[in-house]
Amino acid sequence: MDAGLIVLALLTAWYLISCLVYPFKPCPICGRGGEVRSTSYPGAFGNCRICKGSGRRRRTGARLLGRGR
Ligand SMILES: [Zn+2]
Repeated sequence: MDAGLIVLALLTAWYLISCLVYPFKPCPICGRGGEVRSTSYPGAFGNCRICKGSGRRRRTGARLLGRGR
């Protein structure tokens, strides 16, 4: 096993552990607010389509591990 593989394995393990503890990231569309505002009608807003109003997205690793449902 060469050093590159060991580093890769360590980084992967670190990433998965972090996904266990912190399974979410802020939603890129609404930035954790969970709401999107209408551009055509002032003051109107609705649930964000991407995060469905939760304001957060599950990380890929968290999905793999079945975390953060
Ligand atoms: Zn969102």
